Amino acid sequence: MKKFSLLFLLLLAGFISLNAQDRKINVIIFGAHPDDPDSDAGTAILWSEMGHNVMMVSLTNGDAGHQDMGGGALARIRRAEAEEAGKRYGVKYIALDNHDGELMPTLENRLEVIRLIRKWNADVVIGPRPNDYHPDHRYTGVLLQDAAYMVIVPNIAPDTPPLKKNPVFLYTRDRFQKPNPFTPDIAVDITDVFDQKIYGMAAHESQFFSWLPWTVGQLENVPEDPEERLKWLGNIWGGGTLSAEARASLDKWYGDDRSKLVKHAETFEICEYGRRPGDAEIRELFPMLGQ
Ligand SMILES: [Zn+2]
Repeated sequence: MKKFSLLFLLLLAGFISLNAQDRKINVIIFGAHPDDPDSDAGTAILWSEMGHNVMMVSLTNGDAGHQDMGGGALARIRRAEAEEAGKRYGVKYIALDNHDGELMPTLENRLEVIRLIRKWNADVVIGPRPNDYHPDHRYTGVLLQDAAYMVIVPNIAPDTPPLKKNPVFLYTRDRFQKPNPFTPDIAVDITDVFDQKIYGMAAHESQFFSWLPWTVGQLENVPEDPEERLKWLGNIWGGGTLSAEARASLDKWYGDDRSKLVKHAETFEICEYGRRPGDAEIRELFPMLGQ
């Protein structure tokens, strides 16, 4: 009998530790356009490498943002580019069929966002703050805020089972100062995967090597050679220095010694409307931060 209980306890302990290791974190990253969720691709790559599930969602199909193309033809290109970027990051990447430049915080869109979060069984939801120069970005932020509580309410979108636990909602970094600047509550060292991030972003050819340079009169400065293009894009996205606030956040999460070595980081602000995690839960949800 004693032998039996010891064996039982050992099996139980093994089962519990296996389950703890097996626990998959489900992350969903929203953006307005096919290329917006990519701002957080470094952290997405790290989650994916550790066996967790990441989905990037563009709420529009990107069918307006280009100087030479538009409509369905452009939407098809944007969807193919997003799928290729997703493959390079090791995540699923989808684009909904809302028109680019016309996204509205309608009830229909809110319910669609709620269903997506529920179906992904999300632990973490990431998206823009609702203060931004682009109306699609703003309304993506509003739609996420509108979903941040409703995902647990059974009578809302009753065709999709509600989440048992409200996810943690996070804002992706932006540079806007009014009405209040972004706070980097969480900082992730992406130095080791920065080149992979840039390689993934480069899949959005019609965005990063065509449309975005065109909007700032830089189209003739885009290199032709694929290797040169990666360097050029890397300089744009990683050429600046990290802010003092981002450095302080890195010090907090990694300790001063490791933090000094960080060249590239992604930062997140905790939204007040989802579940409010403590530091221990943040380390669970962001296992790349270490203990
Ligand atoms: Zn955008």
